[in-house]
Amino acid sequence: MEISLFAGLAGLFILLAVLVFTLLARRRQAKRRPPAGKTADKALEPEPGETDRLLHSYFKGLSYVLSNDTDRAVAEFIKVAQVNSATSEIYLALGQLFRKTGEIERAIRIHRNLLLRSSLPANIRLQTIFEIGLDYKQAGLIDRARQTFEELLDEAPTFVEALTELGSIYELCREWDKAIEVQKKLAALGDHESEHVLAHLTTEMAKEYELAGDWQRALKLYRRAIEIDPGCIDAWLHLGDLQLQQGQTTEAVAAWERGFAINPDLASLTVSRLAALPADQARASQEKFFQTNLQAYGGNVNFIAAYINFLIDEGKYAEAAGRIKEMLVRRPDCAALFQLTGRLVHVAAGHPECRDLLPLFFSRFQPVDKPYQCGNCGCYLEEVVWKCPKCAHWDTVAPR
Ligand SMILES: [Zn+2]
Repeated sequence: MEISLFAGLAGLFILLAVLVFTLLARRRQAKRRPPAGKTADKALEPEPGETDRLLHSYFKGLSYVLSNDTDRAVAEFIKVAQVNSATSEIYLALGQLFRKTGEIERAIRIHRNLLLRSSLPANIRLQTIFEIGLDYKQAGLIDRARQTFEELLDEAPTFVEALTELGSIYELCREWDKAIEVQKKLAALGDHESEHVLAHLTTEMAKEYELAGDWQRALKLYRRAIEIDPGCIDAWLHLGDLQLQQGQTTEAVAAWERGFAINPDLASLTVSRLAALPADQARASQEKFFQTNLQAYGGNVNFIAAYINFLIDEGKYAEAAGRIKEMLVRRPDCAALFQLTGRLVHVAAGHPECRDLLPLFFSRFQPVDKPYQCGNCGCYLEEVVWKCPKCAHWDTVAPR
């Protein structure tokens, strides 16, 4: 069972436990009290014999949870929730559970019915509208989700979760100016990550202007992104790319190197740019880059992988083979080893240093499916992305 689903069921289970045991306690109290005391708790009290059925459903539901039978667990829990019409939280939890099991229509129906209640407390009402927005989003009805969150925020402008959801929808629709506005509101509400995200969004907006040919505006925005967060690698790399297009090679190389200094694990992003310079500049700039950084970053497997590629380009096969062998011993799970060994064997098969490379490679290499991983949620990815598609955190993806 998926962890989030399990958490949903566990939450529901606790809510129902509170309800069932409250009802039981009230029944016991009512038995001891004279008949006049009964009336006050009438709304929460089930008919005689109903509490037993309730308990039966509750434990039946629990046993279904334990045996991973979500559908039957939900069916039993509904029976418990229906006994008392005032239990809004239980309906909210049920709606969430339906959404998590993919039954969006039922989730929306539950949430809409809840909204029809005249006595619904204001906070539950807002939470229910928020849940409907999430239902629409999961159903892929992005426009309706967006409208729901916008209307909710008109009413409750400091609803942080709604702001976060609306921001992610604006990002999805590539409406960067609106996404930036949302991020600013989150910053004002004390979201510590917001500057970091704001820099990324500003970089994304700059890329759009660059694509449209408005280089001046793009340049300004890349610089603004760096001002907001000097650690925004993407802004540095793209600033360099634009500077190169404007013929400012020295400035471009300096910007790419800033990107490398921020996260040496992503060395390949800088080196691939240096390697794409015109042939004479490519060689000199890479040589200088590796000479400058080899001592400080020689222990970084991703930096060394980039260096080995350079050594192969340079025809320094013996040193390349030696470095690959070291990596096979130190980090046999490094995804780059497959490409590096293949490349070296292809160009230098007859070289004496390569003779024992393949047997060592086959005995040591531990291949990985996907070479990148999110440091926050642990999901594996094919390529570097700035925002993890699973947990939506920025700058958490690195080579494995
Ligand atoms: Zn993640």
